[in-house]
Order: sequence, then structure tokens, then C-alpha cells
Amino acid sequence: GNFVPPMRSNGGNVGNITSRVAGKGDDALEDSTKTCLEMLCGPDGELPEKLRNLEPHLIEHVSNEIMDRDPNVRWDDIAGLEHAKKCVMEMVIWPLLRPDIFRGCRSPGKGLLLFGPPGTGKTMIGKAIAGEAKATFFYISASSLTSKWIGEGEKLVRALFGVASCRQPAVIFVDEIDSLLSQRKSEGEHESSRRLKTQFLIEMEGFDSGSEQILLIGATNRPQELDEAARRRLTKRLYIPLPSSEARSWIIRNLLEKDGLFKLSEEDINGICKLTEGYSGSDMKNLVKDASIGPLRDALKQGIEITKLQKEDMRPVTLKDFENSLKEVRPSVSLNELGVYDEWNNQFGSLS
Ligand code: ADP
Repeated sequence: GNFVPPMRSNGGNVGNITSRVAGKGDDALEDSTKTCLEMLCGPDGELPEKLRNLEPHLIEHVSNEIMDRDPNVRWDDIAGLEHAKKCVMEMVIWPLLRPDIFRGCRSPGKGLLLFGPPGTGKTMIGKAIAGEAKATFFYISASSLTSKWIGEGEKLVRALFGVASCRQPAVIFVDEIDSLLSQRKSEGEHESSRRLKTQFLIEMEGFDSGSEQILLIGATNRPQELDEAARRRLTKRLYIPLPSSEARSWIIRNLLEKDGLFKLSEEDINGICKLTEGYSGSDMKNLVKDASIGPLRDALKQGIEITKLQKEDMRPVTLKDFENSLKEVRPSVSLNELGVYDEWNNQFGSLS
């Protein structure tokens, strides 16, 4: 009785379902997941062939937990990274928007690797790509495949690629891809993780040779652990470095302005940027969060009760707040680690 006709990926239906599931009881969950399977059915009411041999609970898991219909990151939210943005535009967005032009010798690679320190915007880029290209976004952490899905990882990988091929254009983002495609071999390697890796490579091979509009993005902080097979399939490899001083300045301004809290002078901002050399984008976000609580802490120190506190009781966020927060929020990346990325980038990265 609940049949919903199948929708194209940009039809916008599954997003509603995911949000409907949130916070509802078991009945609602059962109802929605049922619909979720039905939505993948063809006009004949049958599941596409690729999905028929897959376990329904895995298809449901992919549709409800891994698929994200509204990644909600725009290109303009990402500070700096001009080189990466330009490459991604040419390699990914244009081909996804105009598959008719990008064929034959113009056909794009189907695998992209984003590597660099943690918290530098790799996931943001993945989400922004999906948004720009109006593609369905699938996010999975490879370490969850090896830890949480022991024994079922292989089947989940098949379900993931199967559902993605029914929701084209699609972007599959695999975080910590090194834990899946690492070169550490044999003795220590479990039979099950070897099978998982093989399955993953088979799936990649499958859509790489076909005309499917699926892009695989792998992200890693440890590119040196990837093996040759992984490098071969992830044809474009982009270094996503720590933010430059301008990018850090942009992050501070953008986050404070969003909340109407930006009152810093140019000189103050430059001062903060000098003090935050080596901070990642994510460290910067944590720093701004902490600094923005400074005025609140001060107001409370003056004896105002938190329940009676008015916005007007709080002074603007100042350089001093940032200086205090710098003692709390330390950089998460050690500068010696950066040499490894530079080296790997020179050897295997797309430098242009
Ligand atoms: P990664 O995938 O590289 O580990 P994320 O993309 O998940 O990092 O970034 C984590 C958070 O840090 C983001 O949600 C964002 O708030 C902030 N951030 C990181 N890099 C940037 C950037 N280049 N521009 C703006 N914000 C950033």
C-alpha cells in the first residue's frame, strides 16, 4: 500500500525519508525503510538486477546511513585550496554535468585521491563536489568497514556500489581509504580484510571501465600506506595542505560573521594568523569556537548570572580572547609530519 514510484537521484525523495526516520519509533522506521527499498525498484516494481542478490538490510543501511541527499557544503564555504578546486572542477564537475562532451579521450578518471593532514577540508571538498554536480553523496569510513562490519564488509561494499549505480550521478567518498587499500600484506592481514580489499578493487574496476557516472573519492592522512593497485585506480591525487595565512584569516572572519560576532581589526586578524601557523582548518574552527566564549566568561566573572545574561552584556570577541584560547587549542598536526606529504606529493601527486 505504501508504494512510491522510483525517483531519479535528483528527485529529492530519499532525503525526506532519512529525515523522517530520525527521532521516530520503530514503526516509522520500518515503514520508511520499506519505502526506501521500493524507491530503488524499476517501473516493473522489481529491484534492479544489481541489487537483487544483495541483502535488504544492507541496502537499507546504505540508503539510510551512508547516503546523504543534502551534503550542504558549498564551494564558497571552503577556504583556500585553489589548486584543488580548479582540478576538481575540470576533472569532476564538468564531466558530471556534461557527460556528452567528456567521452572518448576526454573521458575523466573515475577515482580521485585527496591526501594531507587531518582537518584540512577533504570531506568538505567531497560534499561540495556532490552538491555542485547535483550528485548523490555516499560517505563511508573505511575503518568502520574493517571494524564494525566484520564479516559483512564485503557484502556492504557490494551494496554500496550497487545502490550508487542506481542513484547516478553519484559520488562515493571513502574516508581513511588507507585502512582498506593499504600495502601492509600477508602475515598480519586477515583473510577477511584481504577479501574486502579484493571486493572493493573489483567494484572499482567495474565502474571504471563502464559508462557509469560514479566518482570514487578516497581520502587519507597516510598516503604512503596505499599500495600500487590503489594508486593506479585513484588516477588524480591532490594534496590538501594546511591552510595558508589568508585561508586562516578567511575561516576566522567567515565563522564570526555568520554569527554576527565579527568586530576584529585587520591588524588583529593578521596577529592571529601569525600565531596560528601550522593550525589545520579544523583547529581554526575549534579556536574560533573557544575564543567566542571569551566575552561570555568575562561577563560571568563580573557576576552576571548566566540565566539573566543578555546579548548586550557581552563585549565583542577580541585578539586577547584568541590569545587566551591559543593556550587551550593547540595545533593537531606536527610540522615534521608535513615532510612526508610533500615527498609523496612530489612523487605521486597531481602537481600541475
Ligand atoms: P578532513 O576531511 O580533511 O579531515 P574536514 O573536511 O572534515 O577535514 O574538515 C573538518 C572541519 O574543519 C570542517 O567541517 C570545517 O569546519 C573545518 N575546515 C577544514 N578545512 C577547511 C577549509 N579549507 N575551509 C573551511 N573550513 C575548513
